Amino acid sequence: MKLTNIKDIFKNKISIDSLIKINGWVKNKRISKSNLIFIDLYDGSFINTLQIVSNNKLLNYYTEIIKLTTGCSISVKGKLIKSFKDKEKLELHVLELNVLGWVKNPNFYPISSKKHTMEHLRKFSHLRSRTNIIGAISRIRSVVFQGFHNYFYKNGYYWVPSPIITSINSEGAGEMFSVLNENFKENNIDKNNNFFGKKVFLTVSGQLTIESYACSISKVYTFGPIFRAENSNTTRHLSEFWMLEVELAFLNLNKIIHVIEKILKYVISLVLKNNYEDLLFLKKNINENIIFRLKKFVSSKIKKINYVDAVKILKENYNFNDNSIFFGMDLNSDHEKFLVDKYFKAPLIILNYPKELKPFYMRINDDNKTVSNLDILFPGVGEIIGGSQREERIKYLEKRILELKLNKKHYKWYRDLRNYGTVPHSGFGLGLERLIMYITGIKNIKDVIPFPRTIKNADF
Ligand code: ATP
Ligand code: MN
Repeated sequence: MKLTNIKDIFKNKISIDSLIKINGWVKNKRISKSNLIFIDLYDGSFINTLQIVSNNKLLNYYTEIIKLTTGCSISVKGKLIKSFKDKEKLELHVLELNVLGWVKNPNFYPISSKKHTMEHLRKFSHLRSRTNIIGAISRIRSVVFQGFHNYFYKNGYYWVPSPIITSINSEGAGEMFSVLNENFKENNIDKNNNFFGKKVFLTVSGQLTIESYACSISKVYTFGPIFRAENSNTTRHLSEFWMLEVELAFLNLNKIIHVIEKILKYVISLVLKNNYEDLLFLKKNINENIIFRLKKFVSSKIKKINYVDAVKILKENYNFNDNSIFFGMDLNSDHEKFLVDKYFKAPLIILNYPKELKPFYMRINDDNKTVSNLDILFPGVGEIIGGSQREERIKYLEKRILELKLNKKHYKWYRDLRNYGTVPHSGFGLGLERLIMYITGIKNIKDVIPFPRTIKNADF
């Protein structure tokens, strides 16, 4: 008997009347007047449950099947048929049902079949993927991650893993966690606990290291976990999150915008195709708008404005007659929300920020005031992408290093890239969890990563 999964059944890959075996968990159970037991079975492959029908002639009907509760794991053999009641529906008529695992104390099962709040589920990160909602998010997340790799593979990019333990202190990117070796301390070999002979950290960005590969194998990306000691509890910051960083030689900022649009459209189309039923569930339960806005995203161009115009819009339209809105201000999350949720009601690229707001490596514009950068903001989430053309001219780079009082020696290797055959190049970093928030409509970043790490929270 062929072992199958629920997705294949719903995608019509299994013919009616075939005998199949299926493994999964009980979502719901009810008993009809004629003593038929109906079980909604899920196996995680698909959002929908498969209806399993057992009659009271089965050997373990009274000893086991009747006692099943939500969460029990079972293995079922049976015949796939069209439901008598609803010819559109498929169900499995049981020939044999084996219980693999019972639920101890069903009344205390944290993932009972009633609706739970996201806060409740967060307390049970090890069990919450059993719910429809976290199941849907997890499947979408996986398709997005694979989708990026597929896109890059198909389009001639090389995957360059940047190191996770690093001595680069990427100025401005965020607070770093340092890496220590506990044994070193105990053995008293080095009082400073300096395993590497210098201070090292968990990476806050792989950009600087992959720039060296962009300046040799041209089209590269790095894709891995990023660590930032974010000392605030927001709905869009994690201490450990995933970032995609792309770096391309011979490209200016305008061309990179084109690349970003193509990549995002590819991945979002893939989710629309692969996870349509998951999106329907999220549309019904989380945000009415999500499918419409994803389809619209795929078929339109992202709006672009200059930072200076963003400030103008805020000055004229934001409901504050406020002196804190001026050229040179950083946009806070309320400003960002106003621009994308209220004013443009669409994703938005903001270009050319004042150099004071941005790190040393961004290419200075001819006005000598702004840099060639972009931030991309999305409705309901805020910034998802930050990028720039990098300063490839050694003279300007060294001037910025000096102005910002950075230690020139630390950047010797980075300056080498400009001293030996420098090329124009650009890149961007995309926060994967923020993108998943946009795609799924989920409001809190802690719900789009399996085991979130935030301040005072590193369970499991
Ligand atoms: P923000 O202003 O929202 O803190 P940032 O300016 O620090 O973002 P970058 O350093 O440009 O962000 O990082 C690139 C991308 O990484 C951001 O656009 C965002 O999508 C994501 N990101 C940054 N910090 C976090 C975080 N703490 N948790 C999750 N994603 C993050
Ligand atoms: Mn930040």
